[in-house]
Amino acid sequence: MTSSNSSAVRSSAKHAAERIQQHLPPSNPASLSSSSLNLPARTSIIAPGGAPISHSSRPKDRPSSSASSASVSSSSPSTRRSGTPVRRSQSKDFDDDNDPGRVRVSVRVRPRNGEELKSDADFADLVELQPEIKRLKLRKNNWSSESYRFDEVFTDTASQKRVYEGVAKPVVEGVLNGYNGTIMAYGQTGTGKTYTVGNIGKDDAAERGIMVRALEDILVSSTSASVSVEISYLQLYMETIQDLLAPEKSNISINEEAKTGEVSVPGATVVNIQDLDHFLQILQVGETNRHAANTKMNTESSRSHAILTVHVRRAMNEKTDLGAKPESLGDKGIPRVRKSKLLIVDLAGSERINKSGTDGHLIE
Ligand code: ADP
Ligand code: MG
Repeated sequence: MTSSNSSAVRSSAKHAAERIQQHLPPSNPASLSSSSLNLPARTSIIAPGGAPISHSSRPKDRPSSSASSASVSSSSPSTRRSGTPVRRSQSKDFDDDNDPGRVRVSVRVRPRNGEELKSDADFADLVELQPEIKRLKLRKNNWSSESYRFDEVFTDTASQKRVYEGVAKPVVEGVLNGYNGTIMAYGQTGTGKTYTVGNIGKDDAAERGIMVRALEDILVSSTSASVSVEISYLQLYMETIQDLLAPEKSNISINEEAKTGEVSVPGATVVNIQDLDHFLQILQVGETNRHAANTKMNTESSRSHAILTVHVRRAMNEKTDLGAKPESLGDKGIPRVRKSKLLIVDLAGSERINKSGTDGHLIE
């Protein structure tokens, strides 16, 4: 999500590139999922007494030389077992689109807003999108430009549906199949992160963002009584976590399990979601609380991260989406439950992340 009207775009693109590259260490890909980003790209089939089966994801494709000023990134399921070191082949990486476990980075440019149209500023001089070859060209001056490759490039005419299908749907499908996944929106304030990720689409369902569409898909495939869908909605500001569904809980602690590295927030309010209308209500409550909390603290939402966590639990006597009918009982005859988690994160404005002092806790 970026606007293409400002001369700040070039420097912010470089900044975004640096930020994203910091998060995609080429030399130690395995650390991405567990430590440097704390992406919970790990899924277990819970079988008390049995060995958990876990999967990890790894980054593969940094944007060819850097990224743009804003992006949506996501992690999707991998078929690799954790603990198996993954060697990156630098030269092969950029052409290897078949690895479902790598972090994917896409960019979306928002349309000009009313003010920008009124100001009659020059547009599109700096940024040229080439969606068909998934490239964004950043013009440095009249003579030279830099080109960056993304997984998807969305122009200002891209619909919310198309962005969802290109960026989030594969992650959501992974979650429905028992993998954990994360979708993050990154970019300067005003570039369209909240619109893309969190828009409720009150007046027009076509404007619904990734959170609502993801829940819609999850709920449609979880109609049976043996599936539960629970959410929590938190805000992270200056190292403190606030519960957007219970604003009186304003400093919740984070728990990291030493053994598995799984991060959880045990004090967070968890709501069992019945249907989409129920979720829309809850999301609206969260938005209202986010606004109120930020007014009270005299801050702006652009300084805080909003984190929606969706927990999906499925009793394993269900037929899976993969068509297989797995054993419903574990080694000791205890019913198996498959748990997975989807994180959707509306990050603080990228110009504020340093100031907000939240580095290192980005999506815990
Ligand atoms: P951010 O969360 O990055 O600060 P917002 O999502 O609040 O930015 O977007 C800033 C403004 O631009 C909002 O008024 C939003 O409705 C509008 N906007 C952003 N992206 C789009 C888009 N793709 N189509 C239409 N309006 C958009
Ligand atoms: Mg926002």
